[in-house]
Amino acid sequence: MLRIARNDLDRIYAQARAEYPAECCGILTQGKDRGVCAVHSCENIQEQKHRDDPERYPRDARTAYLIDPEEMMRITAATEAAGGRVAGFYHSHIDCPAYFSEEDERRTWIFNDREAGEGPDDPDAAYLVLSVYGEDATGAAAGSGREVKGYKCFGWDGSAYIEMPVEPAD
Ligand SMILES: [Zn+2]
Repeated sequence: MLRIARNDLDRIYAQARAEYPAECCGILTQGKDRGVCAVHSCENIQEQKHRDDPERYPRDARTAYLIDPEEMMRITAATEAAGGRVAGFYHSHIDCPAYFSEEDERRTWIFNDREAGEGPDDPDAAYLVLSVYGEDATGAAAGSGREVKGYKCFGWDGSAYIEMPVEPAD
């Protein structure tokens, strides 16, 4: 189960609203004590990739996210050097509910072979998905009607991704 401080959840909500209609994303890490997660907001570089190479990256940032691999490596290295670990990732869904999409699931098998019965690359990672609705759905003026309608978190239980609880911490 993930534990995230309420004010960090608020920050993620704010990021999801601010970056709408692009998906926002970030990394959740835990220290040595495996306690409350630290939240690292990341740039979604999907839009850039899509513009540069639409064949390889058919989705734009409205329907996909990509964390800059260098930023990911930097955060992972700093976390692990301090005895911690990457606990999971978060991203937002634009004008649709929070669920673990086929694409979300597919991308957790980059190195491992699902067809061969292997589990995901990082079976301990949690995936927090937020649902943000905005003016594109409601017709409101830009920025005025953006609302995070909720979130769900998913984790690997050994045979499938299932919903797992998030405990807001003080
Ligand atoms: Zn998703």
